[in-house]
Amino acid sequence: MKIFFSHQFQGQIGDLLPSGCEVVANPHENSLSPDEIRTALADVDGAVWAFGPMDQTMIDAAPKLKVICCYGAGSDHIDIPYATKKGIVVANLPDEVTESTAELAWALILATARRIPEADRLVRSRERFQPSLFLMRGTHLAGKQLGLVGMGRIGAAVAAKAEAFHMHVAYYSRTRKPSYEKAYSMQPMSLEELLKTSDVVSIHVPLTEKTRHLIGSNELAKMKKDALFINTARGPVVDEEALIDALQNKSIRGAGLDVYEYEPAVPEALRNMEQVVLTPHIGTATHETRSYMTRTAVSMVVSVLEGKRPEHVVNPDVYLV
Ligand code: NAP
Repeated sequence: MKIFFSHQFQGQIGDLLPSGCEVVANPHENSLSPDEIRTALADVDGAVWAFGPMDQTMIDAAPKLKVICCYGAGSDHIDIPYATKKGIVVANLPDEVTESTAELAWALILATARRIPEADRLVRSRERFQPSLFLMRGTHLAGKQLGLVGMGRIGAAVAAKAEAFHMHVAYYSRTRKPSYEKAYSMQPMSLEELLKTSDVVSIHVPLTEKTRHLIGSNELAKMKKDALFINTARGPVVDEEALIDALQNKSIRGAGLDVYEYEPAVPEALRNMEQVVLTPHIGTATHETRSYMTRTAVSMVVSVLEGKRPEHVVNPDVYLV
């Protein structure tokens, strides 16, 4: 049994590997080139895949591949239909990433509302700051409405923390969630109503053909002028040009972003705006979560190779092929 890791990973896994199992890990901190990936995949049975597209050419270069475990909740970077056609199981790690990503969403909400990076830059600049009642005034959260778009694992974990900040929660999602509504005193809304009434809008839907540009200029135009926009889901869910326009025209107050439409490219316009807080796709980047993800990913790949069905299969149709 041979397992490929697309990137260096954190955590001990020796005890999880059956005897004779070989791990082939990318030796660099950054991604391998497509050619290097195709070569590395040539004789592997399983792959743990972190970033970058896994396209048809890569799948074709891996004739023995039986399972890909996405190192995260999203699987939009894998050619799922082609993997399914080739009988490759695609699994993911939705449960492991929930809390750390919800914590990052809150970190961005607080940092954007209270202008923390801007304030930090001012102090570090060694510019003498004068006591002033106008210095770094931010946005109060208590009593305001947090609007969550997507009410799955991460949306619910973000909602669970809202009570501590005395925020009301509204949500828009594909299906109603009565148990979450009760647990977090949440109000279901149409997307339009949520955008019109929320003070903070935070995105928690996966990237699919239906959610691509779910938030565009029409949707941003519905938001309050002093609202904050947070995205820790996927960049292409939002039309980035439209978001830049809305921020430049001050039709919304600020944004906190962990993901970008053309990642890893980040538009210069976003970098130049003080009212925007930017992080480099670090939703799951905690020591605890990364160790947990590594152990689950390895266990999942090994169990598929031993003939078992993993808990989270992205392409269940593969079992019908
Ligand atoms: P999840 O449990 O699958 O929840 C997604 C929610 O979105 C579900 O409630 C789903 O509705 C809803 N949804 C799907 N399509 C929709 C549509 N067209 N319109 C409205 N709602 C829709 O996923 P999760 O674990 O919360 O993760 C959400 C996303 O966060 C992931 O897909 C991933 O892309 C992203 N993420 C980012 C990071 C990071 O590092 N920044 C880390 C982890 C995850 P149903 O309940 O009806 O299915």
